This record gives sequence, C-alpha cells and structure tokens, in this order.
Amino acid sequence: MAGLTRRGALLLGGAALGGWATTELASRLPVLEGAGVMAPKGGETILNDASLLSKTPVHRHLVMEENPGEDLVARLRAELKEAAAAGRPVNIGAARHSMGAQAIPIGGHAVTFRNAMVEPDTGSGVYRVHAGARWSEVIAALDPVGFSPKVMQSNHDFGVAATFSVNAHGWPAPLGPMGSTVRAVTMVRPDGSLIRAARDENANLFRAAMGGYGLIGLITELEVEMAPNLRLDPVFQEMPGEAFGSAFAAAVKDGTVNMAYGRLNVDRARFFEDALMITYCPSADQSDLPPASTSGFISKASRHIFRAQLGRERVKRWRWWTETDLGPMVGGGAVTRNSLLNEPVITLDDRDPNRTDILHEYFVPPERFADFLTACREVIPGSYQELLNVTLRWLEPDTDSILAFAPGPRIAAVMLFSQEMTNRAEADMARMTEALIDRVIALGGTYYLPYRPHARPDQFTAGYARSHEFVAAKRAADPGLVLRNALWDRYMGML
Ligand SMILES: Cc1cc2nc3c(=O)[nH]c(=O)nc-3n(C[C@H](O)[C@H](O)[C@H](O)COP(=O)(O)OP(=O)(O)OC[C@H]3O[C@@H](n4cnc5c(N)ncnc54)[C@H](O)[C@@H]3O)c2cc1C
Repeated sequence: MAGLTRRGALLLGGAALGGWATTELASRLPVLEGAGVMAPKGGETILNDASLLSKTPVHRHLVMEENPGEDLVARLRAELKEAAAAGRPVNIGAARHSMGAQAIPIGGHAVTFRNAMVEPDTGSGVYRVHAGARWSEVIAALDPVGFSPKVMQSNHDFGVAATFSVNAHGWPAPLGPMGSTVRAVTMVRPDGSLIRAARDENANLFRAAMGGYGLIGLITELEVEMAPNLRLDPVFQEMPGEAFGSAFAAAVKDGTVNMAYGRLNVDRARFFEDALMITYCPSADQSDLPPASTSGFISKASRHIFRAQLGRERVKRWRWWTETDLGPMVGGGAVTRNSLLNEPVITLDDRDPNRTDILHEYFVPPERFADFLTACREVIPGSYQELLNVTLRWLEPDTDSILAFAPGPRIAAVMLFSQEMTNRAEADMARMTEALIDRVIALGGTYYLPYRPHARPDQFTAGYARSHEFVAAKRAADPGLVLRNALWDRYMGML
C-alpha cells in the first residue's frame, strides 16, 4: 500500500464496487408519470444554475474575458447604463453553482467573467486576482510558489469574487469565511464609478459587498491572503454524534490543526447517531512537496458507489464503514493542502436527467450541536428526500460582513440531497427546508443563502439579524436598484 493515501484507498474501494453497483444497485425510486417534471429544457436567453431548477429568462448574456482594467470597466459601465435606462437589472456570475438564481437577473443583463489572472506576491503573502478566476486557476498559480488559498470552498470550480460575494467557507481551520482573508476589492459601482474598498477604505461598501451577492457593486479584482502550502497528516476519530460539537471545538483550537472536517452517518436506522472527525496537521517532513494533484480517474469512478446509496440503506451503511474503518486502516497517508483543495465538483456528478443534487447548509453554535442532531432526526427522515452526504466544518466568528451567517463560532453542516426534478419533490423539499430552518433558528443558528429559495421571508430576517441594515446599505449604494437577482427579488426588495 506504499504511496496509497487514505483518500486514494477510499476512492479505490468505491471504484472497485462501482461497476458492480451500477448494474446491481440501479435506483428503485418511483416512476415519474403524472408527477409534473421540472427538468430544464434550456434556450438561448434562458439561464439556469447548479440546481437545474432555476430556469430564468434574461435579456442578454455576455461573457467578458478582459483583464481588470479600462476595457473591462468600460464594458461594465456600458451595460449598467443601458440596463438602467431600460429599467432592467444587471448581475455578474461565475460558475453559477448557486441554486436559486442568486447569479441571474430576471429579464436583465447577465455577465459571466472568464479570466485566470492571478499575481502572487510571496513577500506580502497576498495575491491579486481577477474577480472571475476559478479556484483551480488560483491553485495552479500558487502551488509552484509554495502557497495555497487560505480559505476556499471544498471544490475548486467556483469564482473568487463569487466566493467573496457569498462569503463562502471551507475546511481550512481554524478560520472564518473567505471574506476574512480578503484585503481589498475593486468594483464598479452602479453609478459607473470605480472604487477600491477595504477595511480602511470605503469600509461600509466592503462589509456590505462581502456576502452581499453582487448587490453592492460589480467586482473586477481582489487582493487576497494566501497560506503556505504544507504536507499534512490526517487523524481519524469516530465518536457518537452527540460528542462531536465539543470534540471539534477542542480539536481545531489545539494550535496544530490546519484542515478539519467531520461526517455523519445517513442511513435511516442510525440516522445522525455516529460522527467521524478528520483533522490534518503538518507532517514533520515538509521537503520536496509534490505538485497539486486532482483526484482524477479513481475519484470519478467512486461516484458509482456514492450514487448507489440512492434508496439503498445497505449501501449507505457500507459507505460509512469504508469512511470510518476501511479508510483509516488502509490509507491515511500524507497529502498536500493544495491537493486536498484541488477537487472538481464533477467528481460526483449524478448524470441522471430526472434528478438533481440540492445542497442545504446550517450554521449551528457548537454548544447546541446535539440539539441540532435531534432536530434533523425529527425532520429529515420524515421527508421523501434522499440524503447522501453530510460534511461538518468549523467556522471562526465573522466580524466583517453585514449579512454574516457566523456571528459567533459555528459548526457548518453541509447536506447533499438527491432530489427528483418534479413538482411533488420540490413541494416536499420546500416543506422540509422550512421546518429545518425553524428548528435551527430556534437554536441560535441560521441557514445558508446560496441554495434553494425555500426559506420564508420571515425566516430570512430572523436568520440574518442585520438584514435590514444590509438592505439600507444596498439602497444607499444603488438607489436605482440596477443590481438585482432572485435573492433580492424574493427576500430583500420588500424590506
Ligand atoms: C458542489 C458544491 C459544493 C459547495 N461547497 C461549498 C463549500 O464548501 N463552502 C461554501 O461556503 N459554499 C459551498 N458551496 C456554495 C458555493 O460556494 C456558492 O454557491 C458559490 O456562489 C458558488 O460559486 P460560483 O462561482 O458558482 O458563484 P455564482 O453562483 O456564479 O455567484 C454567486 C454570487 O456571487 C455574485 N458574483 C459573482 N461574481 C461577482 C462579481 N464579479 N462581482 C459581484 N458579484 C459577483 C453573483 O451575482 C451571485 O450572487 C458549494 C456549492 C456547490 C454546488
């Protein structure tokens, strides 16, 4: 097994069972006749996002590839001017992996940035980056100079300004969301003026734009902190779900942990009873770090076993065993930080035209984590939704952004559901999401905004204590309301 990491071993296990699973464990979920199918058909001026359920007409969709500079700014100004004159909205997106048209302006001017400019300054530990650069491009630029993104999501497909605009977080620990690592942004304001915003320059606009879903300005570039790339060794610890909150809090605070995450079992017989904590600390040997790898073939092959969980409690139990017992036994080798972060979303793609993956995420005070598990047990299995994965992350308090989802330390629980693309499944998902959000808010936590817009408007204001302040900042920054998307239309326009 020399050279085989735990991750590789897990993935190999998945791959080996993949072929068998594909034929023997084909999904036995219900037929769709009479169910009101919602799968998208597409169209030239129709945009959608990762949910596949956000089919939205736009007036125009432009891809801009210019470097941040005069030409790009001039094109953005032209769009803003024309849109404002016609009363249409403007919005920039990157990968459009949000799931409720947060990156789509209804009937408006949709812009997508494509440009991989990344300029690391190893002396200051900061890189200058195009707003539309993807994390795969950032890793490719930082890895050869010995650095790594300080905070990014668990996958590398997303845009850097998009990450700042949802204030996303990942599993580097113990850190806050990505906005905490951003020194400054440059943005075109709705009136066409170009400004730099930072904690000591246009500070109110900086704090509103961080996690502000593109509603404050059109960001063209960012200055972002980087962290040393390191070789890391994993440690695995299985425990009762109830013990996870305090164990996770203690682990990330021990001063040596660089990356950390947790998992919960999802089979219905022992739903959320068991937890696994995985912490990564720097290895003693930091010489000759290999270039960042991606998971490649083996990881793609493991999707079969991940998908075979659909409607199969036996496979969910088997997957938990591979995570908790097999993996630590056969793998567990060192891996670089950049290799851990360099994972594409496509790896687990479901390739089923009638189903879609829907994410939920809840932010829970660590001391209420056991109560959160109880709430989940009482709400989720009563729905028709298929929960395939739960990942847990640590978040330090966010003291910057107005729309903060972690005003104190939080455990983030990311859930991946496989949802049938029908009206009946959508209604069931909406009901279940509302119920879960009510329970999480009662625990002092909240939910994440880039996913499906199933929260009620009163849940948005309860879950985001400073929502009125954000809307006031937005109205001051954009009195003509040129920058709009579905998040504004559904939750903020009426405040
Ligand atoms: C498989 C998967 C895994 C995920 N994992 C994580 C995770 O680990 N942690 C986490 O926190 N989130 C996670 N997310 C959520 C993800 O971070 C957000 O959905 C994020 O918005 C995706 O980036 P994107 O490039 O697709 O953004 P988009 O959906 O394209 O845009 C998101 C928002 O940013 C705004 N925006 C984009 N570019 C600009 C710009 N230049 N100027 C101003 N506004 C802009 C858009 O208008 C929009 O409101 C995950 C999502 C998926 C689908």
